Amino acid sequence: MATAAKRPKQVAVGGSPAEDGSADALSGFLDWCETVGLELSPKVYVSKEGTVSDYGLLAREDLQIGEVLFTIPRAVLLSQHTTSIRSLLEKDQASLESQSGWVPLLLALLHEYTASNSHWRPYFSLWPDFSSMDHPMFWPEEERMRLLQGTGILEAVDKDLANIQLEYTSIILPFMESHLDLFDPKLHTPELYQRLVAFVMAYRRWFWRSHFSVPSEVARRPLAVTDPSFQEPLDEEDEDEKEPNPPMMVPMADILNHVANHNANLEYSLECLKMVTTQPIGKGQEIFNTYGQMANWQLLHMYGFAEPYPGNTDDTADIQMVTVRRAALQGASTEAERQLVSEQWDFLCQLEMVGEEGAFVIGWEEVLTEEELSMTLKVLCMAAEEFKEFKEHEGWEEDTEDEESFTLSNETIPRLKASWKKLLHDSALLTLQSYSSDLKAEQDLLNDKVAYGKLSRREQQALQVRYGQKRILHQLLELAS
Ligand code: SAM
Repeated sequence: MATAAKRPKQVAVGGSPAEDGSADALSGFLDWCETVGLELSPKVYVSKEGTVSDYGLLAREDLQIGEVLFTIPRAVLLSQHTTSIRSLLEKDQASLESQSGWVPLLLALLHEYTASNSHWRPYFSLWPDFSSMDHPMFWPEEERMRLLQGTGILEAVDKDLANIQLEYTSIILPFMESHLDLFDPKLHTPELYQRLVAFVMAYRRWFWRSHFSVPSEVARRPLAVTDPSFQEPLDEEDEDEKEPNPPMMVPMADILNHVANHNANLEYSLECLKMVTTQPIGKGQEIFNTYGQMANWQLLHMYGFAEPYPGNTDDTADIQMVTVRRAALQGASTEAERQLVSEQWDFLCQLEMVGEEGAFVIGWEEVLTEEELSMTLKVLCMAAEEFKEFKEHEGWEEDTEDEESFTLSNETIPRLKASWKKLLHDSALLTLQSYSSDLKAEQDLLNDKVAYGKLSRREQQALQVRYGQKRILHQLLELAS
């Protein structure tokens, strides 16, 4: 491994020290890494040049699959268990419980970020004021409404902002006021707190229990959307509870940017964490981690960026569950039929297949919530007699259905019953109507490089989110027609 003395410092920042002081900050951070035993392979370097966004990791030479790029001792991680105020957090544990579960880490960050003698000072120096973070939660409301309508981000941000305010006033502030030797509410303001929430969102991982990053409509997603790179894997016995270990910051691992087609992955062991290549990487190429299988709307909501079309193979579009009910009601022509749809919906709620705030998640190749969606289509398409019988058996059928009838993929959707396809088609159509612009207009804008280049960064990111979602919904329209 390279030592600080051997490392050519200007190369570490791409050969051109930046004027903003980031070269010094990076140099200080790399020296600190060395002091704390974080080993960086000489085959890679951190730079702001040649990356998709600010800092990133690049290959100094060709890399094979399975190469260890760096090793992080566990003592380097910043969490509620490693911060210098850990005993205080532990003592006051009961009063720090919150719906998000983020409060202890955020208090640790508020303290470490502003303490001049913090062990993690060189780490924080990389982001002097978090000014580059541009999550939609920082956009003016008017801009959010104009650019993100229909994407699911508006609702997620509204929940985040409400929860940030609630947790700050009801937990953080009282805690700080009873520890004025450590905290100063004039310095540890709600604005700083919000920046740190965004920092945790973007530089850590998905946190399953969180209301900050798990809006209700995604709470039904399969666990595949959790972030394997920044989420400490669960102990085997915890797995059923689906609640991960507390969040933590992982210096150096969080330097890596994300793409769906990533080429490295974070591996966990008892003593340390290792970033390991998962694809061959050529000299000079950027090394990408995965933050999980993230749709563009999740990337924009939690990380402040979207992958340009067609890069994000993990992109998805949501169809609100209530939209399928609306489509079914729309197709009912008599009062009796409308009554039947209402009863069928209530039954689906009892089966916990649908909920007022839930969404069906549609991917490029398949429906990610196929059990819920196929049961919904099935029940909402039943005639009164059939439904009565089905209900009497509490949703169980004696003759096992053809397995395929529960698979909802690009291959199987065209073969579904006509009534199912119609309901799916109408639901996709209603969802498309919730956006303020149509696919064609956005396609033209994306194809027109000059016009696209004139858009603000926010407009470009929002356009990528909307376009991907609409393409997926249009594909569904075709499959179900
Ligand atoms: N580039 C970051 C930096 O300089 O601090 C390090 C990665 S940090 C874990 C995550 C942030 O990096 C995101 O919030 C986003 O701003 C940026 N990012 C990551 N992947 C990206 C990508 N593919 N395109 C654009 N920005 C990306």
